[in-house]
Amino acid sequence: MKIKLLPSTIDAHGRANAEQRLSCFIVDERVAIDAGSIAIATSDAERAGVRDIIITHPHMDHVATLPIFIDDLFGTLTEPIRVHATEEVIRLLERDIFNGTVYPPFHTFSNKRTRVMEFVPFRAGREFSVAHLRVSAVPVNHIVPTVGMILLDGQKTVAFSSDTSATEEFWRLVNRTPRVDALLIEASFPNALAELAQNSGHLTPAALGKELRKLTHTDLEILAVHLKPTYREQLIEQLEALGVPRLSAMQPGREYSW
Ligand SMILES: [Zn+2]
Ligand SMILES: [Zn+2]
Repeated sequence: MKIKLLPSTIDAHGRANAEQRLSCFIVDERVAIDAGSIAIATSDAERAGVRDIIITHPHMDHVATLPIFIDDLFGTLTEPIRVHATEEVIRLLERDIFNGTVYPPFHTFSNKRTRVMEFVPFRAGREFSVAHLRVSAVPVNHIVPTVGMILLDGQKTVAFSSDTSATEEFWRLVNRTPRVDALLIEASFPNALAELAQNSGHLTPAALGKELRKLTHTDLEILAVHLKPTYREQLIEQLEALGVPRLSAMQPGREYSW
């Protein structure tokens, strides 16, 4: 399985850098997990290949350019963009984004060949298919309805926490999965901002270290994501100080493969 965290920040020289402001992960050039930077940072192959997008929660950093992506592809689509989310999240996306004010209700629109967007609800706790992947999602502990998930392609398995503070059901899901090759987990705020992290439903490196004690798997790659750009260097130091084997900060723009 190949996963790339799309870049979301362009420096003054027009080059993408490592600061992560938006969340969008592209799996095997076919499936997107969240859609923060999907319209601005995908390759031609990804733009042509991604027709399934799983949305973990409706926060702006995870959906910012989803409407723009559909807008861009509107005239050329031959199948809908399928937006997979829980019923709860779909309702929020309809109410707050595709509401005819912020952006058009694309789920009710067609071009000459196809509907341009389709909401595909899934149930937390029940396995479902997305393109070539089997996915299991469970609620995590964020300030809006949010899921973490496990992705299986038949050979490799990757777990993704999405945005969360300390959580339980996600670890039960991960631990009962026979083998996990990689874990993508958030580390948003430095240790000194533990209270802010807690209040906003996020982890610090110290809290991440505590969460990892709930993990029974060993020998997997652990990639920290969602590092708030202002604190990126500090977060990387604090993550390194945990001394957890095979833990590093995920580099936007780099394709990881397992
Ligand atoms: Zn969030
Ligand atoms: Zn977020």
